[in-house]
Amino acid sequence: MHIVVVGCGFAGLEAARMLRKKAKELEITMIDRKPRFDYPPAYPEVLSGKVTPDEIACDLKPIVTKVRAEFIRAEVVTLDLQAKKVRTEATSDGEERDIPYDVLLLAIGAEQTFFGIPGAEEHSYSVNTLKNTIATKNALDNLDYSRKNVILVIGAGLTGVEVAGELVDYFRDRNAPVRIYLVEMMPRILPALPKEEIATHVRRFLSHRGVELLTETAVQEVNERKILFKDGRELRYDLIIWTAGIKPNRLLEHLDVPKVKGWLKVDPYLRVEGMHDVFAVGDTAWFEHEGVRSGQNVEEATGQGKVAAENIIRSLKGKKLKRYRPKNTIQNPRTLISLGDDKGVIYLRGLMVRIFAYRLKKFVEHRYMRMF
Ligand SMILES: Cc1cc2nc3c(=O)[nH]c(=O)nc-3n(C[C@H](O)[C@H](O)[C@H](O)COP(=O)(O)OP(=O)(O)OC[C@H]3O[C@@H](n4cnc5c(N)ncnc54)[C@H](O)[C@@H]3O)c2cc1C
Repeated sequence: MHIVVVGCGFAGLEAARMLRKKAKELEITMIDRKPRFDYPPAYPEVLSGKVTPDEIACDLKPIVTKVRAEFIRAEVVTLDLQAKKVRTEATSDGEERDIPYDVLLLAIGAEQTFFGIPGAEEHSYSVNTLKNTIATKNALDNLDYSRKNVILVIGAGLTGVEVAGELVDYFRDRNAPVRIYLVEMMPRILPALPKEEIATHVRRFLSHRGVELLTETAVQEVNERKILFKDGRELRYDLIIWTAGIKPNRLLEHLDVPKVKGWLKVDPYLRVEGMHDVFAVGDTAWFEHEGVRSGQNVEEATGQGKVAAENIIRSLKGKKLKRYRPKNTIQNPRTLISLGDDKGVIYLRGLMVRIFAYRLKKFVEHRYMRMF
């Protein structure tokens, strides 16, 4: 039996680990376009220099070897669900490859979206991948420090507020004057968190540190050095860091399977709806059952990876499948947010906890990286 796992992020690695734990005899192939696993929650701290890219990344090959799987480093360019094979791009050491599977697990994450706003992608930096985060850090390092720079962070979700906090630390450490704007089209920051209290706390914290918050401010167009908002306002900028919004991986675009807004719709057992041999997990999947929808976060990605692996084994053995029960949901999210200055905040079961929040975030990061 050959299981092919596409994507070696949180969901894919957890699934592979569980597959091997439960079934010694399975043939497992893991494919990723990157040679390394890295830890996105720490990307904002790469900007301030608190962590280096090497500290939050490690080679995939030994991790994959540990679970006795084959590792193919290549971009998957086509999924043929009828013929049951995936095609990879031509790699430097070979040609395009068709890899047949008995069961496919898709764990290919998500991509940054710029919502089709003219000039946004062209003129913005981002922190959606480690490579892009390093490019953003280089752009920060290369600013003209003989004058006051204007930095715009677009999107005041979890990543946006963390980036704004780290930027304050970056400029403080350089002793350089700056204006940092955090721009959000919704009426308040952190719109995905149901409780207003946490948004108020974060707003006050960041404002106190000099970040200027622009809510109900939607971007219309981005030009070189100038941004235009829908209400007619304009701002000159030196650097834009775009953190607003994710979209489904482009590999899914031409796939003729049930989807919601482009995400793969999965059944309660994490199979792509209507399919028995294709599972989807993590940011790739749209899991919604009995009014509860999984969030797109590390906790859900690893939880789904684990359950999907169990269900793959169960389905091979003809056993009853296990229903997935999300924990960190859209309706009831929980999160750890770092805000710069070694401070943070925890949001859990509708409660906000400030004490030890940053230390806990770092502890989770260290524990995760140690696992590899
Ligand atoms: C800046 C930032 C901060 C974040 N902070 C937090 C946080 O604090 N807490 C939290 O819970 N979540 C956070 N997240 C979200 C979290 O990182 C994601 O929810 C999580 O990574 C999803 O895991 P995944 O396995 O589904 O996808 P990913 O971890 O994205 O893994 C997908 C893998 O698929 C590979 N891949 C994609 N397409 C192809 C292809 N065509 N061919 C081959 N390989 C492919 C990619 O290279 C990647 O390795 C953050 C995300 C970002 C970007």
